[in-house]
Amino acid sequence: MAKTIQAIRGMNDCLPEVSGIWQQVESTLRSVVASYGYQEIRTPIVESTDLFKRSIGEVTDIVEKEMYTFDDRNGDSLTLRPEGTASCVRAGNEHGLLYNQQQRLWYMGPMFRHERPQKGRYRQFHQFGVEAYGLAGPDIDLEVILLSARFWKACGIAEHVTLQINSLGSNEARQAYREALIEFLTARADQLDEDSRRRMTTNPLRVLDSKNPEVQAALEGAPSLLDHLDAESKEHFSQLCERLRSAGIEYEINPRLVRGLDYYNRTVFEWVTDSLGSQGTVCAGGRYDGLVEQLGGKSTPAVGFAMGIERLVLMLTTLKAEEQDTSSADVFITALGDDVTDYAVSVAEQLRNTLPGVRVMMHCGGGNLKKQLKRADKTGAKVALLLGSEEADNHQVTIKPLRDGQNQSTVSLDSLSAELESLIS
Ligand code: ATP
Ligand code: MG
Repeated sequence: MAKTIQAIRGMNDCLPEVSGIWQQVESTLRSVVASYGYQEIRTPIVESTDLFKRSIGEVTDIVEKEMYTFDDRNGDSLTLRPEGTASCVRAGNEHGLLYNQQQRLWYMGPMFRHERPQKGRYRQFHQFGVEAYGLAGPDIDLEVILLSARFWKACGIAEHVTLQINSLGSNEARQAYREALIEFLTARADQLDEDSRRRMTTNPLRVLDSKNPEVQAALEGAPSLLDHLDAESKEHFSQLCERLRSAGIEYEINPRLVRGLDYYNRTVFEWVTDSLGSQGTVCAGGRYDGLVEQLGGKSTPAVGFAMGIERLVLMLTTLKAEEQDTSSADVFITALGDDVTDYAVSVAEQLRNTLPGVRVMMHCGGGNLKKQLKRADKTGAKVALLLGSEEADNHQVTIKPLRDGQNQSTVSLDSLSAELESLIS
Protein backbone atom coordinates (compact mmCIF):
# COMPACT_ATOMS: atom_id res chain seq x y z
CA MET A 1 0.00 0.00 0.00
CA ALA A 2 1.14 3.52 -0.72
CA LYS A 3 2.34 5.59 2.21
CA THR A 4 -0.42 7.87 3.49
CA ILE A 5 0.05 11.61 3.56
CA GLN A 6 -0.67 13.40 6.83
CA ALA A 7 -1.90 16.92 7.54
CA ILE A 8 0.69 19.51 8.58
CA ARG A 9 1.43 19.42 12.32
CA GLY A 10 -0.78 21.82 14.23
CA MET A 11 -3.24 22.17 11.34
CA ASN A 12 -6.47 20.33 11.95
CA ASP A 13 -9.22 18.81 9.90
CA CYS A 14 -12.67 19.76 11.12
CA LEU A 15 -14.46 16.40 11.00
CA PRO A 16 -18.22 15.82 10.69
CA GLU A 17 -18.52 14.95 14.40
CA VAL A 18 -17.62 18.55 15.32
CA SER A 19 -18.49 20.51 12.20
CA GLY A 20 -22.05 20.88 13.53
CA ILE A 21 -20.74 22.72 16.60
CA TRP A 22 -18.57 24.92 14.39
CA GLN A 23 -21.60 25.87 12.31
CA GLN A 24 -23.58 26.59 15.46
CA VAL A 25 -20.84 28.84 16.83
CA GLU A 26 -20.45 30.62 13.50
CA SER A 27 -24.15 31.26 13.04
CA THR A 28 -24.55 32.48 16.63
CA LEU A 29 -21.63 34.86 16.10
CA ARG A 30 -23.13 36.14 12.85
CA SER A 31 -26.49 36.84 14.40
CA VAL A 32 -25.01 38.52 17.49
CA VAL A 33 -22.82 40.94 15.49
CA ALA A 34 -25.67 41.66 13.09
CA SER A 35 -27.81 42.69 16.07
CA TYR A 36 -25.23 45.43 16.78
CA GLY A 37 -25.11 46.61 13.16
CA TYR A 38 -21.59 45.33 12.35
CA GLN A 39 -20.79 44.39 8.74
CA GLU A 40 -18.52 41.64 7.49
CA ILE A 41 -15.17 42.29 5.85
CA ARG A 42 -13.19 39.52 4.12
CA THR A 43 -9.52 40.03 3.40
CA PRO A 44 -6.91 37.78 1.76
CA ILE A 45 -5.15 35.13 3.82
CA VAL A 46 -1.77 36.27 2.47
CA GLU A 47 -0.43 39.81 2.94
CA SER A 48 2.89 41.62 2.58
CA THR A 49 5.21 40.65 5.42
CA ASP A 50 5.77 44.35 6.11
CA LEU A 51 2.14 44.79 7.14
CA PHE A 52 2.56 42.54 10.15
CA LYS A 53 6.05 43.73 11.02
CA ARG A 54 4.87 47.33 11.12
CA SER A 55 1.66 46.69 13.04
CA ILE A 56 2.22 43.80 15.44
CA GLY A 57 5.76 44.94 16.18
CA GLU A 58 9.22 43.55 15.45
CA VAL A 59 9.87 42.46 19.03
CA THR A 60 6.82 40.29 19.56
CA ASP A 61 6.50 36.51 19.69
CA ILE A 62 4.43 36.58 16.54
CA VAL A 63 6.85 38.50 14.34
CA GLU A 64 10.04 37.10 15.88
CA LYS A 65 9.24 33.43 15.61
CA GLU A 66 5.67 32.54 14.69
CA MET A 67 4.98 33.84 11.19
CA TYR A 68 4.70 31.69 8.10
CA THR A 69 6.75 33.88 5.79
CA PHE A 70 7.92 32.96 2.31
CA ASP A 71 9.12 34.56 -0.87
CA ASP A 72 6.63 34.79 -3.69
CA ARG A 73 7.94 33.67 -7.09
CA ASN A 74 8.82 37.26 -7.91
CA GLY A 75 10.77 37.69 -4.70
CA ASP A 76 8.21 39.63 -2.62
CA SER A 77 8.10 38.59 1.00
CA LEU A 78 4.60 37.35 1.88
CA THR A 79 3.13 36.09 5.15
CA LEU A 80 0.11 33.95 6.01
CA ARG A 81 -1.88 36.26 8.24
CA PRO A 82 -1.29 35.59 11.96
CA GLU A 83 -4.23 37.79 13.01
CA GLY A 84 -6.96 39.93 11.48
CA THR A 85 -6.62 43.49 12.75
CA ALA A 86 -3.68 44.53 10.59
CA SER A 87 -5.48 43.32 7.46
CA CYS A 88 -8.65 45.23 8.41
CA VAL A 89 -6.70 48.44 8.82
CA ARG A 90 -4.80 47.82 5.57
CA ALA A 91 -8.06 47.24 3.69
CA GLY A 92 -9.76 50.16 5.45
CA ASN A 93 -6.97 52.54 4.40
CA GLU A 94 -6.71 51.14 0.90
CA HIS A 95 -10.44 51.54 0.17
CA GLY A 96 -10.97 54.78 2.05
CA LEU A 97 -13.30 53.16 4.59
CA LEU A 98 -11.63 54.86 7.52
CA TYR A 99 -11.21 58.38 6.24
CA ASN A 100 -13.36 60.57 8.53
CA GLN A 101 -15.76 57.68 8.86
CA GLN A 102 -17.14 55.38 11.46
CA GLN A 103 -17.05 51.72 10.63
CA ARG A 104 -18.18 48.70 12.59
CA LEU A 105 -16.68 45.61 11.00
CA TRP A 106 -16.33 41.91 11.72
CA TYR A 107 -14.36 39.05 10.17
CA MET A 108 -13.93 35.35 10.62
CA GLY A 109 -11.39 32.93 9.21
CA PRO A 110 -8.15 31.00 9.54
CA MET A 111 -4.97 32.51 11.04
CA PHE A 112 -1.48 30.99 11.05
CA ARG A 113 1.21 30.99 13.74
CA HIS A 114 4.12 28.61 14.06
CA GLU A 115 3.60 27.83 17.76
CA ARG A 116 4.12 24.62 19.70
CA PRO A 117 0.87 22.71 19.08
CA GLN A 118 -1.06 21.70 22.21
CA LYS A 119 -4.66 21.65 23.36
CA GLY A 120 -6.18 25.00 22.41
CA ARG A 121 -3.06 26.13 20.53
CA TYR A 122 -2.57 25.29 16.88
CA ARG A 123 -0.65 26.45 13.82
CA GLN A 124 -3.75 27.03 11.78
CA PHE A 125 -6.55 28.30 14.00
CA HIS A 126 -9.64 30.40 13.46
CA GLN A 127 -10.59 33.76 14.81
CA PHE A 128 -13.77 35.74 14.86
CA GLY A 129 -13.11 39.43 15.41
CA VAL A 130 -14.81 42.82 15.47
CA GLU A 131 -13.22 46.21 14.85
CA ALA A 132 -14.84 49.61 15.38
CA TYR A 133 -13.18 52.67 13.81
CA GLY A 134 -13.60 56.38 14.29
CA LEU A 135 -14.97 56.26 17.83
CA ALA A 136 -12.75 57.41 20.68
CA GLY A 137 -14.88 57.17 23.80
CA PRO A 138 -15.40 54.42 26.35
CA ASP A 139 -18.95 53.90 25.03
CA ILE A 140 -17.65 51.91 22.06
CA ASP A 141 -15.29 49.94 24.34
CA LEU A 142 -18.40 49.05 26.32
CA GLU A 143 -20.26 48.09 23.15
CA VAL A 144 -17.69 45.56 21.94
CA ILE A 145 -17.56 44.06 25.44
CA LEU A 146 -21.38 43.86 25.58
CA LEU A 147 -21.35 42.19 22.18
CA SER A 148 -18.94 39.52 23.39
CA ALA A 149 -20.95 39.07 26.62
CA ARG A 150 -24.11 38.54 24.60
CA PHE A 151 -22.35 35.85 22.63
CA TRP A 152 -21.42 33.88 25.80
CA LYS A 153 -25.04 34.06 26.87
CA ALA A 154 -26.30 32.92 23.48
CA CYS A 155 -23.97 29.89 23.69
CA GLY A 156 -24.98 29.15 27.28
CA ILE A 157 -21.44 29.50 28.64
CA ALA A 158 -21.69 32.88 30.36
CA GLU A 159 -21.03 31.41 33.79
CA HIS A 160 -17.77 29.86 32.60
CA VAL A 161 -16.01 33.04 31.44
CA THR A 162 -14.83 36.10 33.33
CA LEU A 163 -13.86 39.49 32.03
CA GLN A 164 -10.48 40.99 32.91
CA ILE A 165 -9.69 44.56 32.00
CA ASN A 166 -6.77 46.93 32.25
CA SER A 167 -5.57 50.17 30.74
CA LEU A 168 -2.20 50.57 29.02
CA GLY A 169 -2.54 54.36 28.95
CA SER A 170 -1.09 56.60 26.28
CA ASN A 171 2.14 55.74 24.49
CA GLU A 172 3.97 58.34 26.59
CA ALA A 173 2.59 56.98 29.86
CA ARG A 174 3.56 53.50 28.80
CA GLN A 175 7.06 54.69 28.04
CA ALA A 176 7.41 56.02 31.59
CA TYR A 177 6.04 52.78 32.97
CA ARG A 178 8.44 50.83 30.80
CA GLU A 179 11.40 52.50 32.50
CA ALA A 180 10.07 51.68 35.95
CA LEU A 181 9.41 48.09 34.93
CA ILE A 182 12.86 47.61 33.43
CA GLU A 183 14.38 48.77 36.69
CA PHE A 184 12.25 46.32 38.66
CA LEU A 185 13.02 43.43 36.30
CA THR A 186 16.75 44.12 36.16
CA ALA A 187 16.93 43.76 39.93
CA ARG A 188 15.30 40.34 39.65
CA ALA A 189 16.89 39.12 36.43
CA ASP A 190 18.14 35.91 38.11
CA GLN A 191 14.54 34.87 38.84
CA LEU A 192 13.42 35.23 35.22
CA ASP A 193 13.55 32.59 32.51
CA GLU A 194 15.61 33.06 29.37
CA ASP A 195 12.72 34.39 27.31
CA SER A 196 11.81 36.99 29.89
CA ARG A 197 15.44 38.07 30.39
CA ARG A 198 15.67 38.66 26.67
CA ARG A 199 12.41 40.61 26.65
CA MET A 200 13.34 42.55 29.77
CA THR A 201 14.92 45.37 27.79
CA THR A 202 13.39 44.93 24.33
CA ASN A 203 9.72 44.50 25.30
CA PRO A 204 9.44 44.48 29.10
CA LEU A 205 5.63 44.65 29.18
CA ARG A 206 5.60 41.27 27.52
CA VAL A 207 7.27 39.80 30.61
CA LEU A 208 4.07 40.57 32.55
CA ASP A 209 2.27 38.26 30.14
CA SER A 210 4.62 35.31 30.75
CA LYS A 211 2.87 31.98 31.20
CA ASN A 212 5.74 30.67 33.37
CA PRO A 213 4.57 30.47 37.02
CA GLU A 214 8.10 31.18 38.30
CA VAL A 215 8.24 34.38 36.29
CA GLN A 216 4.78 35.30 37.57
CA ALA A 217 6.03 34.75 41.13
CA ALA A 218 9.03 37.00 40.49
CA LEU A 219 6.64 39.73 39.36
CA GLU A 220 5.13 39.99 42.83
CA GLY A 221 5.29 43.67 43.76
CA ALA A 222 6.07 44.87 40.24
CA PRO A 223 5.07 48.46 39.54
CA SER A 224 1.49 48.71 38.30
CA LEU A 225 0.53 50.16 34.94
CA LEU A 226 -2.49 51.76 36.56
CA ASP A 227 -0.21 53.93 38.72
CA HIS A 228 1.40 55.35 35.59
CA LEU A 229 -1.66 56.30 33.58
CA ASP A 230 -1.97 59.76 32.06
CA ALA A 231 -4.98 61.77 33.21
CA GLU A 232 -7.05 61.23 30.07
CA SER A 233 -6.52 57.50 30.02
CA LYS A 234 -7.36 57.34 33.70
CA GLU A 235 -10.64 59.12 33.03
CA HIS A 236 -11.39 56.90 30.03
CA PHE A 237 -10.77 53.81 32.14
CA SER A 238 -12.87 54.93 35.08
CA GLN A 239 -15.75 55.79 32.76
CA LEU A 240 -15.53 52.38 31.16
CA CYS A 241 -15.60 50.71 34.59
CA GLU A 242 -18.63 52.77 35.57
CA ARG A 243 -20.46 51.88 32.38
CA LEU A 244 -19.68 48.20 32.73
CA ARG A 245 -21.17 48.33 36.22
CA SER A 246 -24.33 50.05 35.09
CA ALA A 247 -24.68 47.59 32.19
CA GLY A 248 -24.43 44.76 34.72
CA ILE A 249 -21.19 43.30 33.33
CA GLU A 250 -18.94 41.88 36.03
CA TYR A 251 -15.21 42.44 35.58
CA GLU A 252 -11.88 42.12 37.33
CA ILE A 253 -9.17 44.70 36.97
CA ASN A 254 -5.94 42.85 36.17
CA PRO A 255 -3.05 45.35 36.29
CA ARG A 256 -0.74 42.79 34.65
CA LEU A 257 -2.94 42.31 31.62
CA VAL A 258 -1.00 43.41 28.55
CA ARG A 259 -1.45 42.11 25.03
CA GLY A 260 1.18 40.35 22.96
CA LEU A 261 0.87 42.81 20.10
CA ASP A 262 2.42 46.26 20.16
CA TYR A 263 -0.42 48.32 18.75
CA TYR A 264 -2.66 48.45 21.81
CA ASN A 265 -3.17 51.51 24.02
CA ARG A 266 -5.66 52.39 26.76
CA THR A 267 -8.35 49.74 27.26
CA VAL A 268 -7.30 46.11 26.98
CA PHE A 269 -9.46 43.16 27.97
CA GLU A 270 -9.63 39.40 27.93
CA TRP A 271 -12.36 36.88 28.57
CA VAL A 272 -10.81 33.93 30.36
CA THR A 273 -12.07 30.52 31.40
CA ASP A 274 -10.71 27.86 33.72
CA SER A 275 -12.39 25.08 31.76
CA LEU A 276 -9.63 24.82 29.13
CA GLY A 277 -6.50 24.23 31.18
CA SER A 278 -3.64 26.58 30.44
CA GLN A 279 -4.97 28.06 27.16
CA GLY A 280 -7.63 29.93 29.08
CA THR A 281 -8.08 33.08 27.00
CA VAL A 282 -11.04 32.74 24.64
CA CYS A 283 -11.32 36.36 23.59
CA ALA A 284 -8.87 39.23 23.71
CA GLY A 285 -8.88 42.79 22.53
CA GLY A 286 -8.56 46.45 23.24
CA ARG A 287 -8.02 49.89 21.85
CA TYR A 288 -5.43 50.61 19.15
CA ASP A 289 -5.77 54.31 18.44
CA GLY A 290 -2.38 54.69 16.74
CA LEU A 291 -2.44 51.86 14.23
CA VAL A 292 -4.43 53.41 11.38
CA GLU A 293 -2.01 56.32 11.21
CA GLN A 294 0.99 54.06 11.70
CA LEU A 295 -0.10 52.15 8.58
CA GLY A 296 -0.39 55.28 6.52
CA GLY A 297 -3.97 56.40 7.16
CA LYS A 298 -5.33 59.46 8.88
CA SER A 299 -5.24 59.25 12.68
CA THR A 300 -8.36 57.25 13.64
CA PRO A 301 -9.32 55.80 17.01
CA ALA A 302 -10.08 52.09 16.98
CA VAL A 303 -11.09 49.25 19.24
CA GLY A 304 -11.67 45.55 18.65
CA PHE A 305 -11.26 42.00 19.83
CA ALA A 306 -10.60 38.52 18.48
CA MET A 307 -12.00 35.22 19.72
CA GLY A 308 -10.34 31.87 19.18
CA ILE A 309 -12.99 29.62 17.66
CA GLU A 310 -11.16 26.33 18.45
CA ARG A 311 -11.17 27.28 22.12
CA LEU A 312 -14.89 28.07 21.98
CA VAL A 313 -15.61 24.75 20.30
CA LEU A 314 -13.51 22.98 22.94
CA MET A 315 -15.50 24.70 25.68
CA LEU A 316 -18.79 23.77 24.10
CA THR A 317 -17.79 20.15 23.55
CA THR A 318 -16.66 19.77 27.17
CA LEU A 319 -19.34 21.80 28.88
CA LYS A 320 -22.31 20.98 26.67
CA ALA A 321 -21.50 17.45 25.49
CA GLU A 322 -24.96 16.11 26.25
CA GLU A 323 -26.68 18.84 24.24
CA GLN A 324 -24.78 18.22 21.00
CA ASP A 325 -26.82 16.80 18.15
CA THR A 326 -24.57 14.49 16.13
CA SER A 327 -27.33 13.10 13.90
CA SER A 328 -27.04 13.55 10.15
CA ALA A 329 -30.70 13.08 9.16
CA ASP A 330 -34.24 13.62 10.45
CA VAL A 331 -36.00 11.33 8.01
CA PHE A 332 -34.42 8.23 6.45
CA ILE A 333 -36.03 6.67 3.40
CA THR A 334 -35.75 2.94 2.79
CA ALA A 335 -36.80 1.33 -0.48
CA LEU A 336 -37.30 -2.38 -1.12
CA GLY A 337 -36.93 -3.49 -4.71
CA ASP A 338 -35.45 -1.86 -7.80
CA ASP A 339 -38.84 -0.86 -9.16
CA VAL A 340 -39.51 1.21 -6.02
CA THR A 341 -36.43 3.41 -6.39
CA ASP A 342 -38.04 6.00 -8.65
CA TYR A 343 -40.99 6.33 -6.30
CA ALA A 344 -38.65 6.68 -3.30
CA VAL A 345 -36.64 9.39 -5.01
CA SER A 346 -39.81 11.34 -5.83
CA VAL A 347 -41.03 11.05 -2.21
CA ALA A 348 -37.66 12.32 -0.96
CA GLU A 349 -37.62 15.26 -3.39
CA GLN A 350 -41.21 16.15 -2.51
CA LEU A 351 -40.34 16.24 1.20
CA ARG A 352 -37.36 18.49 0.53
CA ASN A 353 -39.78 20.85 -1.23
CA THR A 354 -42.47 20.85 1.41
CA LEU A 355 -40.34 20.65 4.55
CA PRO A 356 -37.31 22.91 3.96
CA GLY A 357 -34.82 22.59 6.80
CA VAL A 358 -35.71 18.94 7.40
CA ARG A 359 -32.83 16.60 6.59
CA VAL A 360 -34.06 13.80 4.33
CA MET A 361 -31.59 10.99 3.62
CA MET A 362 -32.16 8.35 1.00
CA HIS A 363 -30.85 4.82 1.38
CA CYS A 364 -28.56 3.92 -1.51
CA GLY A 365 -27.16 0.56 -2.48
CA GLY A 366 -30.09 -1.81 -1.90
CA GLY A 367 -30.10 -4.61 0.69
CA ASN A 368 -32.83 -6.03 2.88
CA LEU A 369 -35.00 -3.99 5.23
CA LYS A 370 -33.03 -4.97 8.32
CA LYS A 371 -29.82 -3.66 6.80
CA GLN A 372 -31.51 -0.45 5.66
CA LEU A 373 -33.04 0.18 9.09
CA LYS A 374 -29.64 -0.32 10.67
CA ARG A 375 -28.33 2.47 8.46
CA ALA A 376 -31.35 4.59 9.40
CA ASP A 377 -30.60 4.11 13.08
CA LYS A 378 -26.96 5.07 12.59
CA THR A 379 -27.89 8.45 11.10
CA GLY A 380 -29.83 9.37 14.23
CA ALA A 381 -33.00 9.95 12.19
CA LYS A 382 -36.21 10.15 14.18
CA VAL A 383 -38.31 8.55 11.49
CA ALA A 384 -37.83 5.98 8.73
CA LEU A 385 -40.11 5.81 5.72
CA LEU A 386 -40.63 2.27 4.47
CA LEU A 387 -41.37 2.07 0.77
CA GLY A 388 -42.21 -1.20 -1.00
CA SER A 389 -44.12 -2.03 -4.12
CA GLU A 390 -47.44 -1.85 -2.27
CA GLU A 391 -46.75 1.71 -1.12
CA ALA A 392 -45.58 2.66 -4.61
CA ASP A 393 -48.68 1.24 -6.27
CA ASN A 394 -51.08 2.97 -3.86
CA HIS A 395 -49.21 6.29 -3.55
CA GLN A 396 -48.72 5.66 0.14
CA VAL A 397 -45.88 5.77 2.63
CA THR A 398 -45.32 3.71 5.76
CA ILE A 399 -43.94 5.81 8.59
CA LYS A 400 -41.85 4.06 11.23
CA PRO A 401 -40.91 6.20 14.25
CA LEU A 402 -37.42 5.10 15.33
CA ARG A 403 -36.94 6.62 18.76
CA ASP A 404 -40.01 6.60 20.96
CA GLY A 405 -41.57 3.15 20.48
CA GLN A 406 -44.64 4.45 18.62
CA ASN A 407 -46.29 2.10 16.14
CA GLN A 408 -45.76 2.42 12.43
CA SER A 409 -48.62 3.63 10.24
CA THR A 410 -49.35 3.88 6.54
CA VAL A 411 -50.55 7.22 5.18
CA SER A 412 -51.29 8.69 1.78
CA LEU A 413 -48.56 10.65 0.06
CA ASP A 414 -50.72 13.79 0.28
CA SER A 415 -50.81 13.79 4.05
CA LEU A 416 -47.16 12.73 4.54
CA SER A 417 -45.72 16.21 5.19
CA ALA A 418 -48.30 17.04 7.81
CA GLU A 419 -47.83 13.68 9.56
CA LEU A 420 -44.05 14.06 9.58
CA GLU A 421 -44.10 17.60 10.85
CA SER A 422 -45.73 16.52 14.08
CA LEU A 423 -43.39 13.54 14.46
CA ILE A 424 -40.05 15.28 14.01
CA SER A 425 -40.65 18.70 15.49
P1 ATP B 1 -2.20 33.53 23.91
O1 ATP B 1 -1.83 34.39 25.05
O2 ATP B 1 -3.17 32.43 24.26
O3 ATP B 1 -1.04 33.07 23.09
P2 ATP B 1 -2.50 35.73 22.15
O4 ATP B 1 -2.32 36.88 23.05
O5 ATP B 1 -1.38 35.29 21.29
O6 ATP B 1 -3.04 34.47 22.96
P3 ATP B 1 -4.32 37.04 20.33
O7 ATP B 1 -3.31 37.24 19.30
O8 ATP B 1 -4.84 38.17 21.08
O9 ATP B 1 -3.83 35.89 21.31
O10 ATP B 1 -5.54 36.20 19.70
C1 ATP B 1 -6.86 36.28 20.21
C2 ATP B 1 -7.39 34.91 20.53
O11 ATP B 1 -7.13 33.99 19.48
C3 ATP B 1 -6.74 34.26 21.73
O12 ATP B 1 -7.33 34.73 22.90
C4 ATP B 1 -7.06 32.81 21.50
O13 ATP B 1 -8.40 32.52 21.88
C5 ATP B 1 -6.94 32.69 20.03
N1 ATP B 1 -5.60 32.18 19.66
C6 ATP B 1 -4.45 32.86 19.56
N2 ATP B 1 -3.43 32.05 19.16
C7 ATP B 1 -4.00 30.83 18.99
C8 ATP B 1 -3.49 29.56 18.55
N3 ATP B 1 -2.21 29.39 18.21
N4 ATP B 1 -4.35 28.51 18.50
C9 ATP B 1 -5.65 28.66 18.81
N5 ATP B 1 -6.19 29.82 19.21
C10 ATP B 1 -5.37 30.90 19.31
MG1 MG C 1 0.15 33.86 21.54
